[in-house]
Amino acid sequence: MLEVNAVVAGYGEITALKGISLEVAQGEIVAVLGANGAGKSTLLKTISGLIRPLEGEIAFEGERIDHRKPFQIARMGIVHCPEGRRLFSNLTVRENLEMGAYSRSDAAGIEESIEQVASIFPMLRMRWRQKAGTLSGGEQQMLALGRALMAKPRLLLLDEPSLGLAPILIEEIFETFPRIRADGVTILIVEQNAHMALEIAERGYVMETGEISLAGPAEELKKDERIVSAYLGGM
Ligand code: ATP
Repeated sequence: MLEVNAVVAGYGEITALKGISLEVAQGEIVAVLGANGAGKSTLLKTISGLIRPLEGEIAFEGERIDHRKPFQIARMGIVHCPEGRRLFSNLTVRENLEMGAYSRSDAAGIEESIEQVASIFPMLRMRWRQKAGTLSGGEQQMLALGRALMAKPRLLLLDEPSLGLAPILIEEIFETFPRIRADGVTILIVEQNAHMALEIAERGYVMETGEISLAGPAEELKKDERIVSAYLGGM
């Protein structure tokens, strides 16, 4: 579904991606693990068109998308749920969800999506009229995910959904990902929390300073000594 081939990208003098290749098949949950500054956010921004690659190619369902504009890429079905949630803090929960559907005009379908989001995150329904800025961190993350789902993604790019959350909330949020996938959404997730990411993903890649250092099925990565010592708290 998604093919990233030898992509080089960065910010001026800084090369954050030094020839990254990876692929995601339809229906998969794929995790990209890596420490702070490894380039994970840059990878997602490059896929969603916020950063233009200097070299390499990105294809979605066989069509080149590098050098397309973010709105064109979003229209093709790639939706980016950025790090730090980026909600409209003065708008209500429901209004934030409606903003997620800004590119859609099917009123009945939008209402159906709101119901679907509320069934995945029942907490949101209890807070329809609450301002997003007054939600707890976990609730904000759920709203950010819900808003991304309102755009009807075919491929959802998740940037560090565990960031700043207590373990119990992280579990609650990660438990929704297989359900979201069951609704037909393919997921590419970047995470520092390797433990949680490998619980829900089928496959994973490890990124270190802009390069993929390791890749394989999640079950194998969980047992790999290098992963255990660097990302799973050692043994
Ligand atoms: P984190 O989990 O901390 O977000 P990351 O793996 O997502 O880390 P990136 O944010 O992609 O890493 O950063 C990769 C490299 O690019 C880092 O060296 C970072 O300092 C640099 N970088 C990121 N954003 C910018 C920017 N806007 N301008 C200049 N350099 C940047």
